[in-house]
Amino acid sequence: SNSARLDRFLSVRLGIKRGDVRLLLAQKRIEVDGVFATDISQLVGKFSRICLDGEVLTSRQARYLMMNKPAGVVSATKDNKHKTVLDLLSSGEGTGLHIPGRLDFNTTGLLLLTDDGRWSRQLSLPERNIAKVYTALLAQPLDDSYIAAFAAGMYFSYEDVTTRPVSLEIISDYVARLQLVEGRYHQIKRMFGRFQNEVLALHRDAIGSVVLDSSLAPGQYRNLTQDEVLALA
Ligand code: URA
Repeated sequence: SNSARLDRFLSVRLGIKRGDVRLLLAQKRIEVDGVFATDISQLVGKFSRICLDGEVLTSRQARYLMMNKPAGVVSATKDNKHKTVLDLLSSGEGTGLHIPGRLDFNTTGLLLLTDDGRWSRQLSLPERNIAKVYTALLAQPLDDSYIAAFAAGMYFSYEDVTTRPVSLEIISDYVARLQLVEGRYHQIKRMFGRFQNEVLALHRDAIGSVVLDSSLAPGQYRNLTQDEVLALA
């Protein structure tokens, strides 16, 4: 079961008798989710935060996943109309997860999911300059003029920002490899839009040194390794 009585949790965790648990509560030394506990039979779940003298006793393991996002799903935790990436996880597994660095509805590739808010905030800090690597398939052929325009940055009047330099490599007439250090709304599509060139498909290959696992089919996911978690921390 997912919940236990507070006295059971504390007697196991602290190696003390239930009678002594009662004493700790009477002394106002136990907090559950920031409130002094008064009832030894209170039920606590795996997401409860339980403290003794202000020190956290519950240390839940944070979760970190990479998914190969398929086209046609929303990278959000809820959507009224469409399937979300959380719907692709096994039941219950999505609880508490959020998405640092979303992808558009039809964009595919590397998506991270975690319940560690500190880790995702760190990862999203602009000064960290973490490169997001994408492959884009275009409707019109590319030429060298794109390289300079992407490197120079483009002014977006709607947000009143100039995009930071994007490195663009021409892989073939219709395929570009891009590296961005930020993620403005529909940024890549809007940048190619300046050339009246439509992005037909967009795929994220990597975030920093974390590369999408090539064994993951669209919709599949796995836990990040400890090295991958630390590489972005
Ligand atoms: N740029 C876009 O236009 N779409 C994405 O999903 C990511 C970057």
